[in-house]
Amino acid sequence: MRIVIIGNGPGGVELANQLSGEHEVTIVERENVLHYSKPMLSHYIAGFVDREKLFPYSFDWYEKKEITLNLGVKAEVIDRVRKRLITSDSEIPYDILVIATGARPRGPTFEGKEFVQTLKMLQDAERIKEQIEKYEDALILGGGFIGLELAGNLAKAGYKVKLVHRGGNLLGLGEELTKIIMKKLEDDGVEFYLNANALKADENGVFTDRGYVEGKVKVCAFGVIPNREIAIKSGIHAGRGILIDDHFRTSAKDVYAIGDCAEYNGMLSGTAKAAMEHARVLVNILRGNEDSYDFEFRSTVFKFGNFSIALIGKTKGDGNWLDNKTKVFLREGKVVGAVVMEDVRKTMMLERKVKAGVSIDEL
Ligand SMILES: Cc1cc2nc3c(=O)[nH]c(=O)nc-3n(C[C@H](O)[C@H](O)[C@H](O)COP(=O)(O)OP(=O)(O)OC[C@H]3O[C@@H](n4cnc5c(N)ncnc54)[C@H](O)[C@@H]3O)c2cc1C
Repeated sequence: MRIVIIGNGPGGVELANQLSGEHEVTIVERENVLHYSKPMLSHYIAGFVDREKLFPYSFDWYEKKEITLNLGVKAEVIDRVRKRLITSDSEIPYDILVIATGARPRGPTFEGKEFVQTLKMLQDAERIKEQIEKYEDALILGGGFIGLELAGNLAKAGYKVKLVHRGGNLLGLGEELTKIIMKKLEDDGVEFYLNANALKADENGVFTDRGYVEGKVKVCAFGVIPNREIAIKSGIHAGRGILIDDHFRTSAKDVYAIGDCAEYNGMLSGTAKAAMEHARVLVNILRGNEDSYDFEFRSTVFKFGNFSIALIGKTKGDGNWLDNKTKVFLREGKVVGAVVMEDVRKTMMLERKVKAGVSIDEL
């Protein structure tokens, strides 16, 4: 079968990796660089890893795997009747088409947005790195995991870092866990401004409803917007993302969507781990095996500078401490979620137990 994948991010590349050898696999990618690790970008900006370490796969790897890689080529529209992908370069026939177009950062809408940048692509990281090395400070807007990763790594590298966050809590966690995360990052030098809404930016900082915060290099990490444009242009149903069923099928025959661009039952994913798991489940489905992905269940490990934290399942509410690094969350006597700090090796074990719905005594 001819499998055509739009996007060379973790979803697209993992799918190609698994299906190559069995099928004729082609990737269409609009960026003109090899696949790189987005979770490593803040480590690169902070100077902890060299640029070449961001690229896990070489051109040779694609060649050996017999994956046809079209870099610098934009997928424009899907001709669903003729089963062809129309690109900026040519038309590519497919038997199965997988949209793995990811998401783009939600930029600021306030006055002075030209003084604020976003971080998604390698070229963004290169620009931000250059500026941070010049001005030696960073003002991060948004306390989601991307903002915290960047803040943690830059502070660890010795830069002056401020983080402005609209809400009072971080990562959707309660007050107690928020305070612990803040303390860990503050110890490394991050200055937090919580419950502060950015209203306007200028060259030297940001005006918030709680005062002016200085910072030359401003990076906005307000979350992401799924790239669903190709679906809309091709008459494929989309909501916030490209709508899929529990087998990753879109509303068009033989067209699937995985990763950050896909929306299942009102849910978006948003992590590299989820995009790769989507790819693995889709591979099984395409092989004719019964498999499904649990969209309700989330589990990710983040590293904010020196501080690691794993968020497993449902982590809202009060929770119970198992030890001084592990907090678990219960519903009707069953463990439905856990937060693990520092000792994240426990994550896999806890993930299994949370999925099995064990009681706290069985942990
Ligand atoms: C700075 C940063 C830090 C992160 N840290 C973590 C982390 O610690 N842990 C974690 O799990 N996740 C992390 N993430 C999130 C993670 O990177 C994403 O969830 C993941 O990359 C999504 O994978 P994807 O394959 O769905 O899409 P993407 O990685 O976004 O890849 C989509 C690709 O499709 C291409 N594309 C889009 N439209 C077209 C088109 N029309 N034609 C051709 N090509 C197209 C894009 O250029 C892109 O290369 C981070 C993200 C960023 C930006």
